[in-house]
Amino acid sequence: MKHKTEDELFAYREGEMKGREAIAAHLQQCGECRAELERIEEVFAALNAMPVPDPGEAYGAKVWQQIADRLPEQNASWWRGLFAPRRLMAFGTAVALLAVAFYAGRKTGPPAGGERVADAGKVRERVLVVAVGEHLGKSE
Ligand SMILES: [Zn+2]
Repeated sequence: MKHKTEDELFAYREGEMKGREAIAAHLQQCGECRAELERIEEVFAALNAMPVPDPGEAYGAKVWQQIADRLPEQNASWWRGLFAPRRLMAFGTAVALLAVAFYAGRKTGPPAGGERVADAGKVRERVLVVAVGEHLGKSE
Protein backbone atom coordinates (compact mmCIF):
# COMPACT_ATOMS: atom_id res chain seq x y z
CA MET A 1 0.00 0.00 0.00
CA LYS A 2 1.36 3.40 -0.92
CA HIS A 3 1.21 5.93 1.87
CA LYS A 4 -0.01 9.45 1.45
CA THR A 5 2.58 12.21 1.45
CA GLU A 6 2.58 15.09 3.90
CA ASP A 7 1.61 17.32 1.01
CA GLU A 8 -1.45 15.21 0.30
CA LEU A 9 -2.43 15.07 3.95
CA PHE A 10 -1.92 18.78 4.29
CA ALA A 11 -4.08 19.48 1.25
CA TYR A 12 -6.69 17.09 2.62
CA ARG A 13 -6.70 18.92 5.93
CA GLU A 14 -7.08 22.23 4.12
CA GLY A 15 -10.22 20.93 2.43
CA GLU A 16 -8.70 20.21 -0.98
CA MET A 17 -11.25 18.25 -3.04
CA LYS A 18 -8.86 16.65 -5.48
CA GLY A 19 -8.18 13.07 -4.46
CA ARG A 20 -10.18 13.57 -1.28
CA GLU A 21 -12.11 10.32 -1.43
CA ALA A 22 -9.01 8.27 -2.07
CA ILE A 23 -7.20 9.89 0.83
CA ALA A 24 -10.19 9.43 3.14
CA ALA A 25 -10.38 5.77 2.13
CA HIS A 26 -6.67 5.34 2.73
CA LEU A 27 -6.88 7.03 6.13
CA GLN A 28 -9.58 4.58 7.16
CA GLN A 29 -7.26 1.67 6.58
CA CYS A 30 -3.94 3.16 7.52
CA GLY A 31 -3.00 4.00 11.08
CA GLU A 32 0.34 5.41 10.00
CA CYS A 33 -1.20 8.05 7.80
CA ARG A 34 -3.83 8.83 10.41
CA ALA A 35 -1.04 9.42 12.91
CA GLU A 36 0.73 11.64 10.41
CA LEU A 37 -2.42 13.68 9.87
CA GLU A 38 -2.83 14.00 13.63
CA ARG A 39 0.70 15.24 13.94
CA ILE A 40 -0.03 17.94 11.39
CA GLU A 41 -3.24 18.79 13.23
CA GLU A 42 -1.35 19.14 16.49
CA VAL A 43 1.06 21.63 15.05
CA PHE A 44 -1.75 23.75 13.66
CA ALA A 45 -3.79 23.47 16.85
CA ALA A 46 -0.81 24.72 18.83
CA LEU A 47 -0.23 27.58 16.44
CA ASN A 48 -3.86 28.59 16.29
CA ALA A 49 -4.18 28.53 20.07
CA MET A 50 -1.48 31.13 20.48
CA PRO A 51 -2.32 34.71 21.34
CA VAL A 52 -1.63 37.05 18.48
CA PRO A 53 -0.31 40.45 19.46
CA ASP A 54 1.04 42.18 16.39
CA PRO A 55 4.77 41.65 16.05
CA GLY A 56 4.82 43.33 12.64
CA GLU A 57 4.30 41.54 9.37
CA ALA A 58 7.93 41.54 8.38
CA TYR A 59 8.95 39.73 11.53
CA GLY A 60 7.35 36.41 10.70
CA ALA A 61 8.79 36.42 7.22
CA LYS A 62 12.23 37.20 8.57
CA VAL A 63 12.06 34.38 11.08
CA TRP A 64 10.87 32.04 8.40
CA GLN A 65 13.85 32.87 6.23
CA GLN A 66 16.16 32.13 9.12
CA ILE A 67 14.73 28.68 9.72
CA ALA A 68 13.68 27.57 6.25
CA ASP A 69 17.05 26.06 5.48
CA ARG A 70 17.15 24.17 8.75
CA LEU A 71 13.89 22.31 8.33
CA PRO A 72 14.23 18.71 7.24
CA GLU A 73 13.59 18.53 3.52
CA GLN A 74 10.68 16.11 3.73
CA ASN A 75 8.81 18.44 6.03
CA ALA A 76 9.58 21.69 4.29
CA SER A 77 6.80 21.65 1.74
CA TRP A 78 3.81 21.60 4.02
CA TRP A 79 5.41 24.01 6.46
CA ARG A 80 5.19 26.57 3.71
CA GLY A 81 1.44 26.39 4.24
CA LEU A 82 2.11 28.33 7.42
CA PHE A 83 2.58 31.39 5.28
CA ALA A 84 -1.07 32.28 5.74
CA PRO A 85 -0.73 35.71 7.38
CA ARG A 86 -2.44 34.93 10.67
CA ARG A 87 -0.49 31.75 11.18
CA LEU A 88 2.72 33.37 10.25
CA MET A 89 2.05 36.05 12.82
CA ALA A 90 1.21 33.52 15.51
CA PHE A 91 4.33 31.62 14.62
CA GLY A 92 6.53 34.68 14.86
CA THR A 93 4.93 35.66 18.12
CA ALA A 94 5.43 32.24 19.61
CA VAL A 95 9.06 32.33 18.65
CA ALA A 96 9.49 35.75 20.21
CA LEU A 97 7.81 34.66 23.45
CA LEU A 98 9.91 31.52 23.64
CA ALA A 99 13.05 33.48 22.99
CA VAL A 100 12.28 36.02 25.68
CA ALA A 101 11.39 33.36 28.23
CA PHE A 102 14.41 31.28 27.38
CA TYR A 103 16.84 34.17 27.32
CA ALA A 104 15.49 35.71 30.52
CA GLY A 105 15.76 32.33 32.19
CA ARG A 106 19.39 31.75 31.41
CA LYS A 107 20.87 35.20 31.54
CA THR A 108 23.69 34.98 34.04
CA GLY A 109 25.38 38.33 33.90
CA PRO A 110 25.01 41.80 32.45
CA PRO A 111 26.55 41.52 28.96
CA ALA A 112 27.48 44.59 26.97
CA GLY A 113 24.73 46.06 24.81
CA GLY A 114 25.87 44.79 21.43
CA GLU A 115 26.69 41.35 22.75
CA ARG A 116 23.28 40.99 24.27
CA VAL A 117 21.55 41.56 20.96
CA ALA A 118 23.76 39.03 19.23
CA ASP A 119 23.24 36.45 21.94
CA ALA A 120 19.49 36.94 21.95
CA GLY A 121 19.48 36.31 18.21
CA LYS A 122 21.41 33.08 18.57
CA VAL A 123 19.26 31.87 21.42
CA ARG A 124 16.12 32.67 19.47
CA GLU A 125 17.29 30.57 16.57
CA ARG A 126 18.17 27.69 18.81
CA VAL A 127 14.84 27.85 20.63
CA LEU A 128 13.00 27.95 17.35
CA VAL A 129 14.78 24.94 15.96
CA VAL A 130 14.08 23.03 19.15
CA ALA A 131 10.41 24.05 19.16
CA VAL A 132 9.94 23.08 15.54
CA GLY A 133 11.83 19.86 16.05
CA GLU A 134 9.61 18.91 18.95
CA HIS A 135 6.50 19.47 16.91
CA LEU A 136 7.83 17.51 13.99
CA GLY A 137 9.22 14.74 16.15
CA LYS A 138 5.97 13.97 17.96
CA SER A 139 4.87 11.24 15.61
CA GLU A 140 6.17 8.25 17.52
ZN1 LIG B 1 -0.70 5.15 4.76
